[in-house]
Amino acid sequence: MLVLVINCGSSSLKYQLLDMKKEKLIAKGLVERIGIEGSVITHELAETDDKYVLETPMTNHKEAIQHVMDALLSPDHGALKSLDEINAVGHRVVHAGEKYANSVIINDSVVDALKECIDLAPLHNPPNLDGIKACRELIPGVPMVAVFDTAFHQTMRPEAYLYAIPYEAYEDYGIRKYGFHGTSHKYMAKEAAEMLNIDVNDLKLITCHLGNGASVSAIKHGRSIDTSMGLTPLEGLVMGTRCGDLDPTIVSMLAEKMEIGHEEVIEVLNKKSGVLGISGISSDFRDLEKAMNDGNKRAELALKIFARKVRFYIGAYIAEMNGVDALVFTGGIGENDAYMRNLICSNMGNLGIKLDKHKNQARGIQAMLSTDDSPVKVMVIPANEELVIARETSELVKKSRDTSHKNS
Ligand code: AMP
Repeated sequence: MLVLVINCGSSSLKYQLLDMKKEKLIAKGLVERIGIEGSVITHELAETDDKYVLETPMTNHKEAIQHVMDALLSPDHGALKSLDEINAVGHRVVHAGEKYANSVIINDSVVDALKECIDLAPLHNPPNLDGIKACRELIPGVPMVAVFDTAFHQTMRPEAYLYAIPYEAYEDYGIRKYGFHGTSHKYMAKEAAEMLNIDVNDLKLITCHLGNGASVSAIKHGRSIDTSMGLTPLEGLVMGTRCGDLDPTIVSMLAEKMEIGHEEVIEVLNKKSGVLGISGISSDFRDLEKAMNDGNKRAELALKIFARKVRFYIGAYIAEMNGVDALVFTGGIGENDAYMRNLICSNMGNLGIKLDKHKNQARGIQAMLSTDDSPVKVMVIPANEELVIARETSELVKKSRDTSHKNS
């Protein structure tokens, strides 16, 4: 089964074409600056290292997806003879509110339900919906699946997801913790169980997705019981440019002192805060570590604050689960940054976490990082969000085909 995975951001679009028989990547690419001057598509075939780059105006997601289809059909750098070869499309969708706890085959009522969630993710859900609409128009009849960032965390119990504000805010407006990076946390749990050769239902795991956006999850017996992001991806850890947890009074105080509206404050907290805000230099950990090594104290402070917050959540989740079997890292920082992993795991021996300094040098590969005698295993599992989306898509489409065959 050939599955096209589409991940639409507000001005960008990532895609991958996978053959699910062998879970093999066939082609992938990125469209940038959709709706902005200088739109560009970069397309790659998995078998060659050649990149095909085309700069051409793309005013909306439909035009961008048309260029993706053209690239896939190109006799020079394409992978398909006809779009009929695409058996299914998997769409990443950020927010499903409480409507879906699992991936779902897209139909009109799913689209309507996702429109109702726009309030909860005004930046993310509209481009996701644009991508779905465009694909339904360009390749009608091809089954499509929505895979949600929030779905995996729908197993959280009310004591984990409710904020201590008037209960009516939850009942009337849906204000609660939803959690994000669900496909990534789910993937880490599954792969970690395979690496440990233990059934996921017998494991207590803490999964750390540390990238530009970052979140930690407590996964008990295969189910997410808590996660650090909240109503939106702003809560929780300190991130590249996001503040993470803070006293809500700060919002009104910043509005007053900076003489800006509350929406601009939220923009500051999303885009000018985190390690960028503290260091004043960069949101990229490579820049920060270089600056720290050159003696920049604020860069060092930003890294320490980041690590401390991750440790905080690890400690909290060990308490919540009454122990942990394995700690898993992923994301750009989690996969590559040995310095940060060491900072996070240092001085946690009494909690059973013993990092092996040599094994911790692993970069971008699946590996065990803890000492052989560490009671808690520490591992790195590179993220593969597109593969998870493609797996969920092919499984659901097969299931729905089987059911319709049985019923016919
Ligand atoms: P992501 O959002 O998962 O793509 O992660 C992006 C972030 O990963 C970058 O902003 C960097 O902070 C971090 N990163 C990527 N490669 C490295 C590396 N080799 N060392 C340290 N940090 C890295």
